[in-house]
Amino acid sequence: MVSDEYPEWTSEEWTAAWTIHVGKAYRCQKCGTLVMVTKGGVGRLEPVCCGQPMQLIEKPDTISDTPGEPE
Ligand SMILES: [Zn+2]
Repeated sequence: MVSDEYPEWTSEEWTAAWTIHVGKAYRCQKCGTLVMVTKGGVGRLEPVCCGQPMQLIEKPDTISDTPGEPE
């Protein structure tokens, strides 16, 4: 009952293997919805909004225009 499919990785190894990173954000160019990654991990992230794939934002802090945001 020994599984070598999931070796004991260190947290450093896990972080290095991540394909989804904290701080990355995706934005809908149609309605302005912003999705931000708050926990990294290994996987595929392809967020869709308004029927189209959301745009990857490398630096979410630089975004200032948020259409339709209430006061
Ligand atoms: Zn949208």
